[in-house]
Amino acid sequence: MGKKQLNVFIHVDADPDRESISEGRFPGLSTSEASSQKWDGLLFAVSFLEKFTERMQDIGLSFKSTFFLRADEQIKGLYGTYSEAFRKFYDVIKQHFCVGWHPHLFRWSNRDRCWHQECNDNEWIRKVLVDCYDHLKSNGFCVQFSKMGWCFHNNTTIKTLSDVGLMGDFSALPGARYPGRLEGKSFQDRYDWGNTDPKPYHPREDNYQKPGILKILEVPLTTYGVNGPLVFLYTAKLALESYIRFRLSYPLSFHLMFPVALPVLLSKKNQRKIDELMWESKESDYITLYLHPDELLDTIGRSLFENFVLRMASTADEKGIRISFLGAPELYSLACSMQMSWR
Ligand SMILES: [Zn+2]
Repeated sequence: MGKKQLNVFIHVDADPDRESISEGRFPGLSTSEASSQKWDGLLFAVSFLEKFTERMQDIGLSFKSTFFLRADEQIKGLYGTYSEAFRKFYDVIKQHFCVGWHPHLFRWSNRDRCWHQECNDNEWIRKVLVDCYDHLKSNGFCVQFSKMGWCFHNNTTIKTLSDVGLMGDFSALPGARYPGRLEGKSFQDRYDWGNTDPKPYHPREDNYQKPGILKILEVPLTTYGVNGPLVFLYTAKLALESYIRFRLSYPLSFHLMFPVALPVLLSKKNQRKIDELMWESKESDYITLYLHPDELLDTIGRSLFENFVLRMASTADEKGIRISFLGAPELYSLACSMQMSWR
C-alpha cells in the first residue's frame, strides 16, 4: 500500500476588494460604479501566492491554486462588457494558477439604487449566464469550471451551467444554508445546501442538491459542524429575521454547518474542528479552503493562511501522509473517479 495522501483544494473567489473588509463585518459587493471598485487584493493575491508557491517548493511541496474570476451582469454594468475582469486579469493569473468562472447573480435595482442577489427570476438568470458564457468564449476565454457567487445554486443555474458545457462546479456546501441578509438595501448571500451530501455528484434536473443525470459534476466544498444552545439562538435569530424581511422560513436547529473559508480560521475552536476533518479523511478524499483576495491584504489574513498550510505540512510529515495540492482540473478528475467508484 502506498503512502496515504491528503488532497487539498485551495481556491480564490477572485472578487474585487470588498467594502468594509477592515471593519470585520460581512463585506458587501454592491458597488454602483466601476470607479469605486478596486482590485488591489487580486493583484496582491497573485503575487503573494506566486511567492508562496516558491517557498513551498523549497520544502518539497508543489502548491497549486485556482482563481475563480468574476464575469456577470454587475461586471457588464460597471465596465460595459461581461469579459472585462478576464481581459484585465486572466493572463497574469494563468501564468501560475488555474482560472475558473465566478458569476455573482447581481441585478441592478432601480427602486433601491443598488445591486442585489437575484434568486427567483429564472428566465433572467438563465439568459445572463448563457450570454456571459458565450461572451467569454467568443473572447477566447473557454471556462470549464465554476464557483458561484455566494455559493448560490438553484435548479436553473446548475442546469444552465451544465447545458453550456461546463464540466465541474465547486459551490455546494453540504448541510449549510443561509437565508440571505441586507447590506444597506442590498439583499445578498442566500444559499441552500441543507440536503446535500458531502460527495461529488451529477445533479438532478429538478433538485440541484441531489444526484441525478445532469452532465456537470458538482464537487462539494468542505464544511464543518457546530453544535449547541448558542447555535439554536443563532438559528432563532435568522428564522425571525428572514421571516420578517423575506417571508422565508428558516429551520431552528442545534446544529449548523459552515464552509472552510479563511476567516473562520481566526477561531482556535474552528481550527481544531478543521484539523480533525483533515486528519480523519480517507485516501482519495479531499479538503477545501477558500479565500478572497482582499483578505491577503491584511497581515492577519496572510498569517492565517500561511499558518494553516504550514501546520498542515508539518502535521502531514509527522503522520507520514503525503499532501497533494490540486487545481480545479485535478480535483475534477479525482471527483470523477470517486463518483464512479460509488456507482
Ligand atoms: Zn464572490
